[in-house]
Amino acid sequence: MTVRTVRRIGDPVLRERAVEVDTTEVGGPEIQSLIDDLIDTMRHANGAGLAANQIGIARRVVVMEVGDNPRYPYKPRIPLTVAINPVIEPLDDELVDINEGCLSVPVRGVVARHVNIRVRYVDREGVEHDEVKRGLTAGTWQHECDHLDGVLIVDRVVDTHSFSEWAEFETHHRDQFVERITAFVQRVGS
Ligand code: ZN
Repeated sequence: MTVRTVRRIGDPVLRERAVEVDTTEVGGPEIQSLIDDLIDTMRHANGAGLAANQIGIARRVVVMEVGDNPRYPYKPRIPLTVAINPVIEPLDDELVDINEGCLSVPVRGVVARHVNIRVRYVDREGVEHDEVKRGLTAGTWQHECDHLDGVLIVDRVVDTHSFSEWAEFETHHRDQFVERITAFVQRVGS
């Protein structure tokens, strides 16, 4: 288990399309230690999720976990989740504007995410999953899976005026966003 350096916007690996993991590779030491490093690095940085290309490995593996997260105190909990070869399918056209941050990007910004999605993936034991995710949790899935396609929040931002450094977000935008998103979370239940 190693805390790895999180790659920052401008590093070409963040713009690569990550390569699928073959089912025969899932239990092997390369993928298993990649998963361990992703979990360690995500927790060390207080991230809600991390994709493999954020630590320089362009393979289709993401991890997510939200407990009592000081970076995102309004986020509903997500148990530790390892998703290999995740595929997302929107279930309808409902969108929500979310002010998102990213460990690879120095600014936050508002992006539009699907509220209801179906996710299919394989976990680190090789077990296949087919689940429905909603709300902010669905947003986190879409954010992490974007990384695997080389897409960052700067590509998806709906209004460039929403870009904000973290400290400026706290000062000028946090209260309004948290009020709106807390009402949203209560409505959709996640
Ligand atoms: Zn990110």
